[in-house]
Amino acid sequence: MTIRYSLKRSRKRKKTLSLQIGKNSEITVYAPSFTPIAEIDRFVEQKKGWIARTLTRQAALPAPPAEKQIATGERFYYLGESHPLEVFFEPLENAGLVFWNNRFYLNCAGGREDRRRHLAAWYRKKAQPYLSERVDFYSRLLKLPVKDVRITSAGRRWGSCSHDNRLSFSFRLIMAPPPVIDYVVVHEMMHVRQKNHSSQFWNLVIGVIPDYQAHRRWLRDHQLLFEF
Ligand SMILES: [Zn+2]
Repeated sequence: MTIRYSLKRSRKRKKTLSLQIGKNSEITVYAPSFTPIAEIDRFVEQKKGWIARTLTRQAALPAPPAEKQIATGERFYYLGESHPLEVFFEPLENAGLVFWNNRFYLNCAGGREDRRRHLAAWYRKKAQPYLSERVDFYSRLLKLPVKDVRITSAGRRWGSCSHDNRLSFSFRLIMAPPPVIDYVVVHEMMHVRQKNHSSQFWNLVIGVIPDYQAHRRWLRDHQLLFEF
């Protein structure tokens, strides 16, 4: 079978070819400017198995969600469960988001951007103490000293560990189930020991989170549901 793909060439790219499958199953190959087509076809051919597996997995997933309006009836994740949102405006009460009885209540008169800001602020407020506590827990368990825990607004990056061992996590991580959050925490903390994704690194992760691959998959499959 021939695989249809679109090609993006770049002068800046040095030697490596890479391949991406987008939301609508379209395949894009990134290549350096002068790579011969035959070589690119060979590369795609080698990736056939992975492409087939990825497309099958994508087909089994629910369709990618439409952009959230942050309106009544939409659902938002918190600690692995999704809960409905209700937006209202009550000028005599504080503006902002309250989570009560498995529902989000947002008191806000503003437009989408205003509502988005309130929601993000709420997730941040929840993420900071939760993630600090999990980092403390693993810091004691693994005897790994950690400097501080920062919360970011990163959309696609769950966490990071700087060269001087400062940990950052996206506030979106608080939308994931607790075992998935723990995997990301341990992943970033193991970068204190190994600043790469070598097999030694993954062995350190497996030592603490043996089923880490299921958690990675969960994040990959739910990433789009976490955007707003
Ligand atoms: Zn990493």
